[in-house]
Amino acid sequence: MIYKAPRGTKDILPSDSYKWQFAEEVIRDQCRRYGFNEIRTPIFEQTEVFVRGVGDTTDVVSKEMYTFEDKGGRSMTLRPEGTAGVVRSLIENNINPLPLKLYYLSAPMFRYENPQAGRQRQFHQFGIEVFGASDASVDAETIALAWDVLKNVGVGNLELNINSIGCPECRPAFREKLIAYFEDRKDELCPTCRERLYKNPLRILDCKEEKCREICSNAPVITDNLCPDCQEHFEDLKAYLKEYGIPYVVNPFIVRGLDYYTKTVFEIISGEIGAQGTVCGGGRYDGLVSQLGGQDICGIGFGMGMERLMMVMEAAGGGPAEGNRPDIFIATMGRNARLKCVDLLRSLREKGFSADMDHISRSMKAQFKYAGKINCRFVGSLGEDELEKGIVKLKNMDTGEEKEVAFDEIAGMLAK
Ligand code: ATP
Ligand code: MG
Repeated sequence: MIYKAPRGTKDILPSDSYKWQFAEEVIRDQCRRYGFNEIRTPIFEQTEVFVRGVGDTTDVVSKEMYTFEDKGGRSMTLRPEGTAGVVRSLIENNINPLPLKLYYLSAPMFRYENPQAGRQRQFHQFGIEVFGASDASVDAETIALAWDVLKNVGVGNLELNINSIGCPECRPAFREKLIAYFEDRKDELCPTCRERLYKNPLRILDCKEEKCREICSNAPVITDNLCPDCQEHFEDLKAYLKEYGIPYVVNPFIVRGLDYYTKTVFEIISGEIGAQGTVCGGGRYDGLVSQLGGQDICGIGFGMGMERLMMVMEAAGGGPAEGNRPDIFIATMGRNARLKCVDLLRSLREKGFSADMDHISRSMKAQFKYAGKINCRFVGSLGEDELEKGIVKLKNMDTGEEKEVAFDEIAGMLAK
């Protein structure tokens, strides 16, 4: 029996994990610059957190959740997205002070989807949430952080799409307008959209079916139907984005899949990869905290798919120049040499170098070969002769240069 990873999941192997680490370092650094702190919440929550927080008319909740009963008979769900759990934590822990800027990194998410390139059942997100700030300057800042992360991992060719989907003031009237428009052409809509018509008509606007798209092209546009407050907020967002120097496209078909959004919604799309080109999506969710039982605290955030980030990073030729390289591998011959080698490694590691040795009694030749395979910068050799002289023969694997180096000078050589 050969076991396989569950469908829609992927192992992240050493040949890739260093690329993840590179992106994660860039992300942590950008978050620090923008004043965000990390939060880590459980990967499962009471099912109700997502049903109430994400909305039961959404695809995520109605079709994609990994829900199970625990041994105590409680309904639990593996988180399909990050925001609802963070909001639950905000309320439970009364996290302070506001405005509060949080991020989570490479957080596993679970959705029962049809696996394909860039679409998995377990995937990972970098996400941020800002609570308690309503000005559009924070919407722009949120977008700028995502933009800077993408730029700094080496991804160009990006398109920022923005839209406003209004608020409880203006959306109901728009909703009615939309329903009236789609009712006339109801029979031409796809079965999913026919079902959405009265439950969640805005979602029809982002249906991927050809026919629905065509029908949508003449549908009423939400940005023409905003209340003065939402209108002003959207204009402010555009002005702030201009200050950040971030180009945008207003796209009335961006409505986002999750129910909790208000006002600003956005997606960042990469031209590097095909169908699954949306690397990052987010928006404002002013009603969510109170919806989950907290105070009336507004919020905004985004989720960035790490797998998709890796795909666009590689397609754009970005990412780290090379994998993690050990500084030195010391090949040894004989028991005394191995004992001394342990002493040398201890001291080198203490000084911060990545240093390794043979543990399976290979020949010197085999140890050299292995050292080449792990791509170390230097290979040392240490046998009886070297022990007597108090040196190792050190070979620079990049230049081929060889040198005898006294034990206490090895670190100095590696530091060069
Ligand atoms: P899509 O339209 O591609 O299904 P979504 O609207 O469901 O995306 P969000 O819930 O906004 O996605 O999640 C934010 C980001 O997480 C997406 O932009 C994408 O990069 C990533 N993502 C979402 N679902 C998956 C998945 N199944 N596998 C890998 N990445 C995903
Ligand atoms: Mg989806």
